[in-house]
Amino acid sequence: MATYLVFLGPPGAGKGTQAKRLAHELQIPQISTGDLFREHLRQETALGKRANEYIKKGELVPDEVTVGMVRDRLSAADCADGAIFDGFPRTASQARALDEILDEKGATLTAVFCVDISEEELLRRLTGRRVCRENGHIFHLEFNPPEEAGACDYDGSELYQRDDDKEETVRERIRVYQEQTAPLCSHYDKRGKLVEIDGEQSIEAVTESLLQALADGQDE
Ligand code: ADP
Ligand code: ADP
Repeated sequence: MATYLVFLGPPGAGKGTQAKRLAHELQIPQISTGDLFREHLRQETALGKRANEYIKKGELVPDEVTVGMVRDRLSAADCADGAIFDGFPRTASQARALDEILDEKGATLTAVFCVDISEEELLRRLTGRRVCRENGHIFHLEFNPPEEAGACDYDGSELYQRDDDKEETVRERIRVYQEQTAPLCSHYDKRGKLVEIDGEQSIEAVTESLLQALADGQDE
């Protein structure tokens, strides 16, 4: 059976970091809508320019744009055995669309991870976050520094600070998360899909908790 996983959690909770590690472990792709939008912007596509109007303000990109992009990505051959969604769904309407898309594939969600973390820790993580230009690999100046300052350990490309990781945009993104995305946790809990994860552990310990939760789920 294909494995489809979702990461919910506020900006800076560690979704991208963990989704990449699980993708490597499980050999299924990570689908980060944030990364897809940033790639569109880099390529200067119409979608990228439209999305950036929202991203720079810390608002959500409209559902129809986001869902269309995910539908497209999921039709690629590498998603046949599953995928790990990082930062999608973020609204009730996106959650419904995801159910429909998976339904059309004869698939269902395996589990939804909700990563818990305090607001204080989020701000520390977001202000120190640096990502690489080439592939979006994630580092932190203090908590997960690259071997060589300013360069990605994996592909050598330049590390930069995202525009939307400035403090005022960060606060708006956290507010938007609480208002529009956090309610999805109880939605998935009611459906028996939710696994709560303590996001304040070390990067390695969070991955262990995720793998343990998946193994426990398989035993049921
Ligand atoms: P983070 O990892 O910090 O949560 P992302 O890289 O996932 O941030 O997203 C960056 C921005 O891209 C969001 O603030 C939002 O503007 C836009 N975005 C990403 N995913 C979605 C989505 N599923 N729906 C709407 N907008 C999105
Ligand atoms: P999200 O995708 O949820 O926005 P990221 O995975 O980009 O979060 O992580 C945000 C920042 O926090 C990054 O700089 C990352 O290196 C760092 N980070 C991620 N997980 C941890 C952790 N468990 N402990 C300390 N720092 C972390």
